Amino acid sequence: MADDRQAVLDAARVRITSMEDEIREALKGRDLAADGDERSDGHHHPAEAASDSEYREKQLRDQLRMREQLEQLSRAREAIEAGTYGVCVDCGSPIPEGRLKAIPDAERCVPCQSRAPRRR
Ligand SMILES: [Zn+2]
Repeated sequence: MADDRQAVLDAARVRITSMEDEIREALKGRDLAADGDERSDGHHHPAEAASDSEYREKQLRDQLRMREQLEQLSRAREAIEAGTYGVCVDCGSPIPEGRLKAIPDAERCVPCQSRAPRRR
């Protein structure tokens, strides 16, 4: 079954790399947008200022979430290299292959994840 294990690791590496690329690309787009013209189209009544700050808050939340996801992906990558990939960080049980295929950076088995606060 070593071949299966290797196939799971290879697939996870590929998925993780492409997810990282996607997130980096998305972050890059956002950074450019932030540097660009800040919707300087002259309409500055209070209602619009409010929606602007809500918009910026949402952008910041999105960025934060993407950075967290990048960190989680890099932890998964380290786990692959360390040989600990696919093992639940809470209970040490193997995470089912199907779950790893769906969520390559899963750190917990399903029962532990459902007990863990927030996130997937
Ligand atoms: Zn577990």
